[in-house]
Amino acid sequence: MALRFFNTYSRELEEFAPREAGKIDIYTCGPTVYSRAHIGNFRAYIFEDLLQRHLEARGFKVHRVMNITDVDDKTIRGSREAGIPLTKFTEQFKEAFFDDAETLRIKRADEYPSATDQHYIDKMISMIGALIAKGLAYQADDKSVYFRIHNFPNYGKLAHFDLTQLQSTGRVKHDEYDKEHIGDFALWKAWDEKDGDVKWASPWGPGRPGWHIECSAMATALLGDQIDIHCGGVDNIFPHHEAEIAQSEGVTGKKFVRMWMHCAHLLVDGQKMAKSLGNFYTVPDVLAKGYTGRELRYALIRVHYRTQLNFTWEGMNEARESLGRIDDWLRRLREIAGDESGIAPGHEFEDALDDDLNISAALGFLFETIRETNRAMDRGELDPATAGSWLQWWNRVDAVLALGGQEIEIPPAVLALAKEREQARLAKDWKKSDELRDQLSALGWEVRDSKDGQKITKRAGA
Ligand SMILES: [Zn+2]
Repeated sequence: MALRFFNTYSRELEEFAPREAGKIDIYTCGPTVYSRAHIGNFRAYIFEDLLQRHLEARGFKVHRVMNITDVDDKTIRGSREAGIPLTKFTEQFKEAFFDDAETLRIKRADEYPSATDQHYIDKMISMIGALIAKGLAYQADDKSVYFRIHNFPNYGKLAHFDLTQLQSTGRVKHDEYDKEHIGDFALWKAWDEKDGDVKWASPWGPGRPGWHIECSAMATALLGDQIDIHCGGVDNIFPHHEAEIAQSEGVTGKKFVRMWMHCAHLLVDGQKMAKSLGNFYTVPDVLAKGYTGRELRYALIRVHYRTQLNFTWEGMNEARESLGRIDDWLRRLREIAGDESGIAPGHEFEDALDDDLNISAALGFLFETIRETNRAMDRGELDPATAGSWLQWWNRVDAVLALGGQEIEIPPAVLALAKEREQARLAKDWKKSDELRDQLSALGWEVRDSKDGQKITKRAGA
């Protein structure tokens, strides 16, 4: 079956073939490291992980780049408020991002370029210079450099956006008076005192890059002028990805991206996630409720990426139940399976994912298989060779889902003791904290204290 994906650019399902047979380049917009990423961000990263793993299962060699945005308004504001240098401020959230990605079993990208790397800053500056030379950018009186959207006729094509609307609804902020058009976006932001020591030299004076040019520069520097697939969340479509197209194509004159894929929003209890609503969750928040990374991965992967996902605790419990069914099934199969293999299971699972990553159909097939083989085992009719074949098939499927049960589950009693210990530490009751550590140790668990709180691991040999 041919691969087909929904291309945001055309708003149509399109058959997908990479530029070079057998190889696929993917660029995915990564985190802005000013706070810990929330589970909505990770929903998009898990969708990208599913995409990569499926393409690899189909025999493609995938080269994936994910950028880290470590300079923008939010990171600068955060570092100023924390009173620490920008790099020190962003470092902690970079680390947290990689921790959480590992908890959720997200494969590492091949490269994680950082926007503040001088190599990429140079590339951004050279792209901005090229855009000015082509009349696609200009330096305004405020010394910042802006993209001139009126000279790029395709601007708005990705978002299916009407530029005249932009004029009528846009409220002009004080610092945007210098622009020729309200929709013109900053390529280079002139330094001002709020930026502190965050600045780079450029032909237009000291300043820093705009967020959009960061991605255009890192994407083309690492993957070339043209990319097979570019992903992100729907909130990236406008203006971020629209701007990426304008900048990249403005410089190269070549079509930047073949396939634009975007992941829908995540809601919590039917509402948009917001700190003010108290429904804002990070990965550690979910783990603190006693769930595992594997369970959260399942809850985030099971809904088709273009459908809004409503996160609920009930949904987490359903995820736990579904994984329990898989675990029980595998245990039964392993009891029966012999060394020889029998029937060769077909490719229904992979075929479903070929169709715009139809995860519902793929999981539907998995659970139908579980039901049928369980019934055969109930009747004592599943022979060792067939059981062995289904185990082999599961290995193939799990290379894509990454839901296998290798994870060590922390028993509720251990979690309760660990929580008690954390409270003791907060109350500076060191004696009690040490006693609880000993109790945990006697149960075979070790706690380590890190700046993200304590980490619980099974003691080696326990
Ligand atoms: Zn981006």
